[in-house]
Amino acid sequence: MPTTRLVIIGAGPAGNTCATVAASLGAEVTLVEREVIGGAAHLWDCIPSKALIATGAELAELTRAPTMGLTAQGALDIAALRRRVSDIQAHLHAQLCTLLTSQGVRLVHGVARFKDPHTIVADTADGIEELPADVVLISTGSRPRIPDFVTVDGERVLTTRESYPPPEIPEHAIIVGSGVTGVEFTHMFGSLGSKVSLLVSRQQVLPIKDPEVAAVLEAAFLEQGVKLLKGARASAITRNGDTVCVTCEDGRVIEGSHAVLAVGSVPNSEGLGLEEASLEVDSGGYIPVNHNCLTTVGHIYAAGDVAGRLPLSSVAAMQGRKIAEHMMGMHNRPHRHLDYDKAPSAIFTEPEIADVGLAEADAFSTGRKIRVTKVPFTANAKALIKGDPRGFVKIISDPARGVVLGGSIVGRNAAELIGIVAVAVTNGLKVEDIIDSLLVHPTLSESLAEAAS
Ligand SMILES: Cc1cc2nc3c(=O)[nH]c(=O)nc-3n(C[C@H](O)[C@H](O)[C@H](O)COP(=O)(O)OP(=O)(O)OC[C@H]3O[C@@H](n4cnc5c(N)ncnc54)[C@H](O)[C@@H]3O)c2cc1C
Repeated sequence: MPTTRLVIIGAGPAGNTCATVAASLGAEVTLVEREVIGGAAHLWDCIPSKALIATGAELAELTRAPTMGLTAQGALDIAALRRRVSDIQAHLHAQLCTLLTSQGVRLVHGVARFKDPHTIVADTADGIEELPADVVLISTGSRPRIPDFVTVDGERVLTTRESYPPPEIPEHAIIVGSGVTGVEFTHMFGSLGSKVSLLVSRQQVLPIKDPEVAAVLEAAFLEQGVKLLKGARASAITRNGDTVCVTCEDGRVIEGSHAVLAVGSVPNSEGLGLEEASLEVDSGGYIPVNHNCLTTVGHIYAAGDVAGRLPLSSVAAMQGRKIAEHMMGMHNRPHRHLDYDKAPSAIFTEPEIADVGLAEADAFSTGRKIRVTKVPFTANAKALIKGDPRGFVKIISDPARGVVLGGSIVGRNAAELIGIVAVAVTNGLKVEDIIDSLLVHPTLSESLAEAAS
């Protein structure tokens, strides 16, 4: 059988995971990337934001030192912080390139587009290269949305991309948008010492999350000194020297040193020559795909943010893996399809927030009968030992069969702990399966067993 030639456009989590898995399964893979192998996820999104949040967390630990019987001082060294972020990125980049090339993936640095359905053209420093393809994956990601009323200057009016590595910690950051990215940036700058004002367009941060979860985060923000401006929808942002003014639709004006836009993203679907491959985008610019991430053209897949499902690095990588298996004929069992309703997600604030599966509010709105059990971390020995018993574990299960349907965790290490609930939800485990599992004492995970009881 002839070798399948796969050309991938974009080397973020979707593209690079698909490349390694497809190559390991025997495909001849070419991966075209215009910026950095690792994609926006490594360059601007997941990695730098979490690296800065980790530094903020260490600072918070120092402020808690007296309660742990210690004295300590911490001063931020911006140059060292910037070095740390780029060292992590360089390390991950080198690891990824080694993995890809060791699997035989050919890396092409250039801008790719379709010439026809079976030919990708890569515009590289050495000229134009034509890449014949039996299968194509479009995994070109997304970029921050910039509303018409704003001019991003990259100095004081910023998107998340211009926010790091930060040349300075903003004196007063005004964060526009209180979804996941907005609250993470609020926490990030707040924990690094900025005064922060957060514009919340509705009446709660994280409008699509469980109100109980949002309430814990709002309380933590208020304790951190964050100013929450509820019902505040920005309509203009202007800069006057070192001052930035954000005007809201209701006439409120907030002055600060920097404004950071966190108002969603738009897919990178332009300039790809999609029309040459008879592909169309939907009204939002996303490339429609089916449950196998196949587009309307039989040999072209799309995955990650550009395909408009769940904009998460973890989901993009899993889509990439599933595509590789599908194109190599290994994806013929229905239960192996990716189930987006079972994707865990986390918000890296303090306390952390993580959830998976069915949400309590969704069950109530559809009239579905559920059993909800909840325990606070104040009852957990490890949380008390660590000096931070904020938050809770909530497990949602089917009252008749005991199957775990979902869960929410607010508190320390919630993003790690949700993994246990995610394994239960993905595999249809019952609450007894969690209760009967021996867990280490003292650990935060003991609260999971308690919440399942
Ligand atoms: C601030 C922020 C923090 C985030 N934190 C997290 C997190 O903690 N956890 C999580 O799971 N998700 C997180 N996300 C979401 C996550 O970053 C995205 O879902 C993920 O990066 C999507 O991966 P992707 O494979 O679609 O593409 P991307 O990572 O966006 O990469 C796409 C690549 O395609 C390249 N490309 C585009 N067009 C072309 C072309 N024509 N030719 C060649 N190359 C091209 C781009 O240069 C880019 O490198 C965060 C997002 C933001 C904005």
